[in-house]
Amino acid sequence: MPRPRVVFLGTGGALNPERYQASILVQAAGTTFLLDVGGGLGVVRRLLACEVDPLGVRHVVLSHRHLDHVGGLEPLLMYMFYAAYRTEAPPPPVSVHALPGSAAAIRAALAAADSSADRVFGERLAWRTPAPGAVTAVDGGATLTLVPVDHLPPGGEAGAGVISADGVRIVYSGDTRPCDALIDAARGADLLIHEVGGTDARAELLHRVGHSTAADAGRAAARAGVRALAMFHTPAPVWVAPGDLLAEARRHAPGVEVFLSEDGMVWPV
Ligand SMILES: [Zn+2]
Repeated sequence: MPRPRVVFLGTGGALNPERYQASILVQAAGTTFLLDVGGGLGVVRRLLACEVDPLGVRHVVLSHRHLDHVGGLEPLLMYMFYAAYRTEAPPPPVSVHALPGSAAAIRAALAAADSSADRVFGERLAWRTPAPGAVTAVDGGATLTLVPVDHLPPGGEAGAGVISADGVRIVYSGDTRPCDALIDAARGADLLIHEVGGTDARAELLHRVGHSTAADAGRAAARAGVRALAMFHTPAPVWVAPGDLLAEARRHAPGVEVFLSEDGMVWPV
């Protein structure tokens, strides 16, 4: 079985015009996950640019309700539906995973926007809303666990995603302030994909709006004892130099392989 492969499709924060919004592909145990789907049809563009067939996506993991993480869900699903329709095939089976409170909010927003995906996919689209911390078996022997983290709105059930497959554990923070539950979930992981909103120079602002600094990401990686830390959700360079993010995280994570992900980057390299 090939080792899990991560493709960073979109690595930008909500207001970064130089990167696509959050969307990370994980191919593992013969199946395909998308961790968040920000950026409208940009998700499909990024999949095609990275030579991944959008029809192969089997699991979409939504960390929380904000549009820079879920705005591409309807365009992705409708692209998949019509790509199958063109060949007279049924739409492929897709599972969408989110904590119950996040899923309810996202589904209400989609219904208000007259979303078609639930209708056209029918039973081939499954919304899976596991209890926090429950381990969900997915196809191919991989497991997915959603762990509550600390983001906005208060009580909104933002979640980190933990994928275990083929002896490799990949942890995706979604958006969060520093959060002990995330560190517990990431204990000994091979890769921690952690959001970053800036450096400690703006810690007060970033924590107030539910985000983390590069130092926070580095500390989380070091406390959890992960092998590698990939920062994503990067602000535009007019706010902070990428090199400063990297240097600050590395100072707080000795012994951890730390990198700043880029759109199109693949892990392991
Ligand atoms: Zn975000």
